[in-house]
Amino acid sequence: MSNAALRALNPTTNEPFGPVFPEPDAAAIDAACAAAAAAFDTYRETAPEARAAFLEAIAAEIEAIGDILIETAMAETGLPLARLTGERGRTTGQLRLFAQVVRRGDWIGARIDPALPDRKPLPRADLRQRFIPLGPVVVFGASNFPLAFSTAGGDTAAALAAGCPVIVKGHPAHPNTGALVGGAIARAVAAAGLPAGVFALLTGQSHDLGGGLVRDPRVKAVGFTGSRAGGMALVRIAAERPEPIPVFAEMSSVNPVVLCPAALAARAETLGAAFVGSLTLGAGQFCTNPGLVFALAGPDLDRFTTAAAAALTTAQPHVMLTPGIFGAYEQGVDRLAGREGVEPLARGCVGDGVNQAVGALFAVEAETFLRDAVLGHEVFGSSSLIVRVTDAAQMKTLLESLEGQLTATLQMDADDADFARGLLPTLERKAGRILANGWPTGVEVSHAMVHGGPFPATSDPRGTSVGTRAIERFLRPVCYQDIPDDLLPAALKTGNPLDLARAVDGVLTS
Ligand code: NAP
Repeated sequence: MSNAALRALNPTTNEPFGPVFPEPDAAAIDAACAAAAAAFDTYRETAPEARAAFLEAIAAEIEAIGDILIETAMAETGLPLARLTGERGRTTGQLRLFAQVVRRGDWIGARIDPALPDRKPLPRADLRQRFIPLGPVVVFGASNFPLAFSTAGGDTAAALAAGCPVIVKGHPAHPNTGALVGGAIARAVAAAGLPAGVFALLTGQSHDLGGGLVRDPRVKAVGFTGSRAGGMALVRIAAERPEPIPVFAEMSSVNPVVLCPAALAARAETLGAAFVGSLTLGAGQFCTNPGLVFALAGPDLDRFTTAAAAALTTAQPHVMLTPGIFGAYEQGVDRLAGREGVEPLARGCVGDGVNQAVGALFAVEAETFLRDAVLGHEVFGSSSLIVRVTDAAQMKTLLESLEGQLTATLQMDADDADFARGLLPTLERKAGRILANGWPTGVEVSHAMVHGGPFPATSDPRGTSVGTRAIERFLRPVCYQDIPDDLLPAALKTGNPLDLARAVDGVLTS
């Protein structure tokens, strides 16, 4: 944003507090990138057990910070105690989950195609493959998860698990929280006897800092969560480097919810109230917030709409993370309200504090939605649009018209199976996660989770930023041809000293 010195801001008062964070300059960027590059070869060859223990030590150091971490995050973000306490558990939990993955070793992807010296007409060489980490990774902490998707969040955990040194561009909305967590990681680095360059935190609020880190030739990949404009700016910078690098940017999603006819007929009122619960959770500041609802027009949808509107009118306002995010939300709601054919249905309760988001619900006919692309754009916060659909064919047309999404949800009963089956191929092409009878907010950190999807949900649909598969984004395969055994990495030596499950001639062996 600016080059002015950064201080934390309490979003409930708009008062700055705490120390000044001087903007890191070009020399600071250079030093962090040089240290990360120097640390890479040592860190990437840490044995699985040592690297796993390091990840667990970070988790323990974060817990050892104690209540001050939660109190600081509350003051900087306006998020409540229970939410941040849960988020701390998620942060340490995902570090420990990645430790399990590192120990298991299957991410190394060891494959051995033994030599076939007698093969005719040509012999085959001895071929061995493993994944190695890409190199230093720059992680842009997210504003809306100051713990679980920031300094020691999902991208950092995945990159460190892969063996990549990490430089975090700290989010200016929570500099003190970032500093506490950054200190915890630095202590774990030192205790493990690793080079200091394995981790760095540079907090600032100028685009020069983020841009400078992405431009640095020693940086080999980027993880980002934030706005579409910010993510795309970094994608462009990375693509224009003499050596382009991958950017895994998680940016924008409206998370369509389809109310299938039988489910709507059976439980319109319950669905209406539950939908508003998901919409207003955490002031709607989730990338998985349900911003679009599609259903066949008729009395059942009217019942849903009435119930949702009634629930929203009693929803309490909640302070948003920053004045900027609050301002963007207000603009987004005004933009929606001003589009032709958009009908206001309900607003939430108005508060008397600053930066307090008031929920917003609108409705529109499907023909209007199909004519106006703006109606499908994300409004970050608790705003949603109900689209009245005429028939199943139009439902498919509407879903086809959408951009890529993190999630797509089907509210369905047994009698909706054929209706839902007809939509699934479209939803698979559009979204990274398809849910039945749940709500998209709430993302489990697990092995099977996908938090990704086609553009603009992410800049690269081939991965996930939540769950253990996230490690794969920071790896690349290397093949060793006829390399003598004593020069091979441990993962590929004939004696299998790491006791890995390996594919030998395509057959998994342990
Ligand atoms: P943001 O403006 O995209 O900023 C995220 C990070 O990227 C910050 O560290 C920012 O640093 C950096 N950045 C942004 N543009 C940059 C550029 N052109 N060059 C270099 N660095 C850049 O996101 P935010 O501040 O968290 O929130 C703003 C909006 O983002 C929200 O209103 C919402 O629309 C969206 N958002 C989406 C999600 C999601 O999960 N989809 C999550 C959070 C926010 P500096 O500003 O310090 O340069």
